[in-house]
Amino acid sequence: MASEYDVIVIGGGPAGYPAAIRAAQNGLKSACIDEWKNRDGSNAFGGTCLNAGCIPSKALLESSELYHRAHTEFASHGIRIEHATMDVARMQTRKGTIVKQLTGGIAALVETIGEHQRGRPVGRVRPKRRDESRLVVHGRIGPVRAHS
Ligand SMILES: Cc1cc2nc3c(=O)[nH]c(=O)nc-3n(C[C@H](O)[C@H](O)[C@H](O)COP(=O)(O)OP(=O)(O)OC[C@H]3O[C@@H](n4cnc5c(N)ncnc54)[C@H](O)[C@@H]3O)c2cc1C
Repeated sequence: MASEYDVIVIGGGPAGYPAAIRAAQNGLKSACIDEWKNRDGSNAFGGTCLNAGCIPSKALLESSELYHRAHTEFASHGIRIEHATMDVARMQTRKGTIVKQLTGGIAALVETIGEHQRGRPVGRVRPKRRDESRLVVHGRIGPVRAHS
């Protein structure tokens, strides 16, 4: 049995999830569908930016900048650190925590759309046929149809 929507946004990155939320705020029945899978198999909204791009790269950049400054600047401030070393695993853990916090926030926002308060619409979207308005979602929510 297909679910029917006024708007189906494919992709829950910085472009997609605000569009789906805005459509819902304007009274349309909307869904946001995303196929993103983390290495542990979990799904996440946020797209490239939150999961692999802007946010993780800036989290790691901040760690490496602090390491660099500890070596090159701290002494001139009168801060002496003997043997400052880099714990890459710890940096990765911190980065992972930040990403999880932010993608969790977006998941909560997307759930405010209403229809999917108990289950996030995740899955890969493929058009069933070029001339059809029906989309097939290989994921948890089954076939969905947009009003044409
Ligand atoms: C390393 C790196 C660093 C970056 N740093 C910055 C930065 O500092 N500042 C900045 O402004 N930008 C940065 N960017 C660019 C930024 O990540 C992108 O501009 C932004 O993510 C684009 O958003 P989007 O929503 O258009 O696409 P995306 O974020 O790529 O989201 C697209 C989503 O669609 C989903 N999707 C695609 N096809 C399907 C399908 N058939 N079915 C279901 N889901 C599907 C994908 O899973 C994905 O989640 C960086 C990018 C990288 C790689």
